[in-house]
Amino acid sequence: MKLEIKNVTKTFKEKVAVNNFSMELQSGECVGLIGPNGAGKSTLIKVISDIIDPNAGEVLLNGKKISKMKREIGYLPQYPNFFHWMTAKETLTFMGQLSGLQKEELTNSIPEILTKVGLIGEENSKVGTFSGGMKQRLGIAQALLHKPSLIVMDEPVSALDPIGRREVLNLIEEIKKDTTILLSTHILGDAEEICERFVIIKNGIKIEDTTINELLKRNSKNSLNVEITAKD
Ligand code: ADP
Ligand code: MG
Repeated sequence: MKLEIKNVTKTFKEKVAVNNFSMELQSGECVGLIGPNGAGKSTLIKVISDIIDPNAGEVLLNGKKISKMKREIGYLPQYPNFFHWMTAKETLTFMGQLSGLQKEELTNSIPEILTKVGLIGEENSKVGTFSGGMKQRLGIAQALLHKPSLIVMDEPVSALDPIGRREVLNLIEEIKKDTTILLSTHILGDAEEICERFVIIKNGIKIEDTTINELLKRNSKNSLNVEITAKD
């Protein structure tokens, strides 16, 4: 797996949300995409997942243009949307079929995926009764349905209480073992817990691309902190 983001620019009317942004992701990496609110994280992640088209630039997966239709990249939106009256199992069956999977293969794979995300035993509970952490884990289950080699997660723990946050971070640690991850967050600590590399985005521009080892060599993570929280 190799993801290449090449000179991506996305504008909304006058607003440049992502500005000539480039980065690469190699197989097995877990990279934190970090930046304050409004930095352009969600926009970039939607371009990567082929939810929206960039004005310029391109995203290549293994040298080829990505396509949402192929579902090669698992996508966890910042605000996953579910029908509260459906059960977890019905949700995954519905979403899976909507995205082109056969009912028989879903019957086989859904229990496995629910086990992975820790929702086995809750498969017949209505999503409306789920906690924030459970909903987020269901969102991750959905992103895993097509067994992607890369999963992009948009602020997966930012809105969760401490228990939900811990559950989801533990799950991401598990997924990390066999899936490449790009995780966006406006909270440095979230990325620090699970990622080894950090890409900082501000005003749509990449301002830093560094690893935990480089930061340790600098002997201070403060430089990163300051850049994230600094006001324009
Ligand atoms: P982040 O996820 O880092 O908080 P976003 O990618 O959501 O940032 O937004 C980046 C900028 O683009 C913000 O200024 C936001 O207001 C603007 N933006 C995002 N989506 C839209 C849209 N659909 N229409 C207009 N402006 C948008
Ligand atoms: Mg966002």
